[in-house]
Amino acid sequence: MKGLTASHPQLEDTLDSYGDKNHTINPYKDQGLNLRITNLQTKELLYNDIDFDITDKKSFFHHIFYDKGKSTNGLIFYTTRTYEINENNYNVYFQFNLTENSMDLMHLLPGMILIYLFIVYLILHSGKKGNAKLFSIMKTMSATANRLTVNNLHSERLNVAGTKSELKDLAITINGMLDRIETSYESQKQFVSDASHELRTPISVIQGYANLLNRWGKKDETVMEEAIEAIQIESKEMQDLVEKLLFLSRHDKKTLKLKKAKFNMCEIVEDMVKETKLVITNRIIRSSKLEDVIVYGDKQALKQAIRVFIDNAVKYTKDNDVIQISCENQDGDCVITVSDTGIGMTRKDIDNIFERFYRSDHVRNEKISGNGLGLSIAKLIILKHTGRIKVRSQYTKGSTFIITIPKRIY
Ligand code: ADP
Repeated sequence: MKGLTASHPQLEDTLDSYGDKNHTINPYKDQGLNLRITNLQTKELLYNDIDFDITDKKSFFHHIFYDKGKSTNGLIFYTTRTYEINENNYNVYFQFNLTENSMDLMHLLPGMILIYLFIVYLILHSGKKGNAKLFSIMKTMSATANRLTVNNLHSERLNVAGTKSELKDLAITINGMLDRIETSYESQKQFVSDASHELRTPISVIQGYANLLNRWGKKDETVMEEAIEAIQIESKEMQDLVEKLLFLSRHDKKTLKLKKAKFNMCEIVEDMVKETKLVITNRIIRSSKLEDVIVYGDKQALKQAIRVFIDNAVKYTKDNDVIQISCENQDGDCVITVSDTGIGMTRKDIDNIFERFYRSDHVRNEKISGNGLGLSIAKLIILKHTGRIKVRSQYTKGSTFIITIPKRIY
């Protein structure tokens, strides 16, 4: 009897031997599988070892029968297949009795329910305990946050010890944020204090000369002239300082507006070199390389920045020192170099010169005028043009500042 699927070789044998009804032909019987084979054409029953006839009974679920009756017993799976063998159609009805197994399962069920309930209890209990701990930690955190003011910003932080990992992450993030707020607040405070300190000197000088004028200047012309000149110089310095402070404050408030356009930087540098040579006659000012290079930027702001480097080169050199200024076109990038053979800087100075109000000790000791704001302003302007500044310096030997303004990529 050919034609059955290869996965049922024993069933094929079973059907092959259907003629011999006394022959035990169901090899799966011992494993609980019962069969009923009928020839569909002749309706002849060829084989039947089914114990429970559930043909007319309603199934409990798709091909599953469950009943605790007298004739039929327990849990039975059933299905029907049709096979075509040698142009004959056979209907094979399969029945698998799982009653015994289901009874075993039933005995296990109360135990399983108990274990399930125990696990649910454990989860709820530990969750409750966890929640209570979580709330107490959050309460402490919010109490600490409530205590925070600008006056205790440095001493108060959220306690991260013993907290759960997610809360710990949150507390660490908040502490990091507080650190940044504190740093920013401290630097604002420092800025106001430094600015007031810088303004105090010219104001007291002006007051001193005004008193001098009041007392002696009316009669003594020399005193009067000296006082007026000093007041003019100091008020000019004060105006410069206030302008710088306003620039920085506009930058910090993000209200600084740059008017950018394309222009030839070489012309600007050339003009500045000429101006410096005219005013400063006791330094050797050289400008070996001045190449045309188009930059896209704010002309006034860039001029203000380059002026800081040139003014510093003049300020921090002595008579007959050399100041070298160049403007190069390096593949479209504008590279301006200002170098001098002046007093130079230490490593510590180089690391700090772009900080607001920073001035090196030897500059302060030698009473060279300045307020330590020039380079911080120059840096802001160069950064606003996506540029960079390189510093090379050697104490007592001189300094070189290389400013690069990259070409605009359209
Ligand atoms: P200021 O010149 O008003 O002090 P800057 O911000 O321009 O402020 O410069 C900060 C400090 O950097 C100066 O006080 C000085 O110590 C150092 N510095 C800047 N340029 C030079 C230079 N060319 N040579 C030596 N020191 C310099």
